[in-house]
Amino acid sequence: MSDKSPARAGQSFADVVIVGGGIMGLWAALEADRAGLSTLLLDAGPLAAGASGGLLGALMPHMPDKWNEKKQLQFEALLSLEREIAALEAETGLSAGYRRAGRLIPLPKPHLRKIAERHQAESEANWNQNGVSFSWNVIDQSPHGALWPTSEVTAAGLVFDTFAARVSPRGLTGLLVARLKRSSRVKIDEGVTVTAIDVAASVAQLSDGRFVSFGHLIVAAGHASFPLLSALGPVLARPLGQPVKGQAALLSAPMIAPYLPLLYLDGLYIVPHEGGRVAIGSTSEDRFNDPFTTDQQLGDVLARAVRLAPQLAEADVIERWAGLRPKAIDRDPMVGPHPAAERVIALTGGFKVSFGLAHVLARAALAPILGLEAAVPESFSTAHHLSVAARMD
Ligand SMILES: Cc1cc2nc3c(=O)[nH]c(=O)nc-3n(C[C@H](O)[C@H](O)[C@H](O)COP(=O)(O)OP(=O)(O)OC[C@H]3O[C@@H](n4cnc5c(N)ncnc54)[C@H](O)[C@@H]3O)c2cc1C
Repeated sequence: MSDKSPARAGQSFADVVIVGGGIMGLWAALEADRAGLSTLLLDAGPLAAGASGGLLGALMPHMPDKWNEKKQLQFEALLSLEREIAALEAETGLSAGYRRAGRLIPLPKPHLRKIAERHQAESEANWNQNGVSFSWNVIDQSPHGALWPTSEVTAAGLVFDTFAARVSPRGLTGLLVARLKRSSRVKIDEGVTVTAIDVAASVAQLSDGRFVSFGHLIVAAGHASFPLLSALGPVLARPLGQPVKGQAALLSAPMIAPYLPLLYLDGLYIVPHEGGRVAIGSTSEDRFNDPFTTDQQLGDVLARAVRLAPQLAEADVIERWAGLRPKAIDRDPMVGPHPAAERVIALTGGFKVSFGLAHVLARAALAPILGLEAAVPESFSTAHHLSVAARMD
């Protein structure tokens, strides 16, 4: 932007302008509202129609071994999400389709059982805290019979992880949108793209020709955050992050009870949801021609799902879907002020785990605005990711 005049005709102001209304931006808007800040939530499309508009909703904990700061943060986030969702459901009367159903992981080979038994011992220490206790139990047979999953893949037993949960992505985002629409402090503008950010004037330029001035601006634009943030500082040697395409499908499967645990094997997720629905995913594609089409790669994922849970052969595919996950250059989420533009705060890079962390990351994004310390690992900071992107190696 070349024109840096602070007040243009018709220019509005918000304490916090949030760019992007996916799962990250929605939680950020809720946290800003709770803090009493005037908030403008902008989205290029309809709210929650980007990566957050998907089907899967797996809330998978990290492995219980090699405990560290990141695993502790996720542990606490997965616990507090349950309370947050219960409160929002009570407030709105809507359902997020949440259930801590657990997860079954087949162990096809004996050496995998040995590793799993070590993890079981570590789960007893690391997943037993804050007054709650979950386990990574090695068992011989599925408690849900020889078809969930097929006994063909359980020669060395299974892991029953009692911590994993699932949520309906559209249920949760719908709940957040409904809650935000009740607030007099939050204004929502859909179909409007932020095209440029004038850091010196604290002004964002919008695709409809308007300018909005901000106290702080949170960039929660999914994978589109990376070029927006890169443009604010010195030229980088490498992109700050990239989109990773994923394809998933939704089945009508009334024969699958909604309380059944999720199944997970080698990147394949089978996630039972409420209402006789089962979600299957996902591909992970660094290179792709069309971001939003589905193809034979999803067909292959579906075929693997039927081999793992043979009852699914009777189910109908009712939706095929593709989206772009935001992956930051150093893989961890990216949250916090841009070092060259302290009033601009990143909130992105949730990659494959955004739904379990977004509420905690949103709080961390708001922290500097409220004069608080952000309680996230250093490797999540915007400064850290920028320093990695600045290196030539
Ligand atoms: C197939 C698949 C399966 C997945 N499964 C899981 C799972 O099981 N569990 C899990 O936790 N995660 C999962 N993920 C990842 C998760 O969906 C994403 O990490 C998450 O949705 C990212 O949320 P976000 O808010 O950062 O981005 P998005 O949801 O993409 O939201 C960004 C928003 O910003 C808007 N926007 C972009 N640019 C601009 C601009 N310049 N101005 C205004 N608005 C703009 C977009 O319109 C969009 O609405 C999956 C992803 C895929 C693709």
